Amino acid sequence: MTHKSRKPYIAGNWKMNLDRSKCLDMVKIIKSRLGDGNDREVAVFAPSIYLADVTAVAQGSPLGVGGQNLWYEENGAFTGEVAARMLREVGADRVLVGHSERRHVFHEPDEWMGRKVRAALDRDLLPIYCVGETIEERRGNRTDRVIKRQLDAGFEKVRPEDAHRITVAYEPVWAIGTGETATVEQAAAVHKMIRKWIAQRLGDEASQITRVIYGGSVKPDNAKQLMAAEDIDGLLVGGASLQADTFIPIIEYDAR
Ligand code: PEP
Repeated sequence: MTHKSRKPYIAGNWKMNLDRSKCLDMVKIIKSRLGDGNDREVAVFAPSIYLADVTAVAQGSPLGVGGQNLWYEENGAFTGEVAARMLREVGADRVLVGHSERRHVFHEPDEWMGRKVRAALDRDLLPIYCVGETIEERRGNRTDRVIKRQLDAGFEKVRPEDAHRITVAYEPVWAIGTGETATVEQAAAVHKMIRKWIAQRLGDEASQITRVIYGGSVKPDNAKQLMAAEDIDGLLVGGASLQADTFIPIIEYDAR
């Protein structure tokens, strides 16, 4: 199976940006451009406080809507946190796990990742599990080691039959929000390593099903080039997903 048979996945991470009305405007615009969604999967990850409204506007279209984080327990004394079942209840169908800002700004440890991914899968949320190295780790030739450690943590409770529901996002920390994009060669090399790791962990079949997407300063002018690489199955877009005039051209990248 080549990446042409893995459905391309374009996701926008809105982070703590856009107010409620802008989120809803964006959803209406994206929805109007999606068609039947057969040739590519598109999703937005909205602030959790707006998810109910965003999913209501997205309803009836193939647009996926996700949360940006979750806590792995079902309920309890976890002030400020949101459980998988709560995301589900407001209509989200997916969630980001281990985004670099969660890891580096909020110091989320590797030890939480496996339980977060499992909680998402058990509650019918499609997780995008984010991994990526810092610039110091890359300069110290530790990229592969760091990413394998993050994969070990996140896939701790993942089974081969989960492969079609889990996505890995390779997001080099040094390329997020910096305007600096990994070259296609740099990204493709890491994506290949990730797929090999999945093959060793879950088997060849699962590794061919699991999508591995790239994130880090994706823009309309580099989307097509990144998507042409064999092991890059999609894009996780931050800054450029906040406006229709940059996000729509990425969604509509020319796949030929
Ligand atoms: C992200 O936050 O997932 C991201 C890739 O951001 P940006 O596109 O702004 O680098």
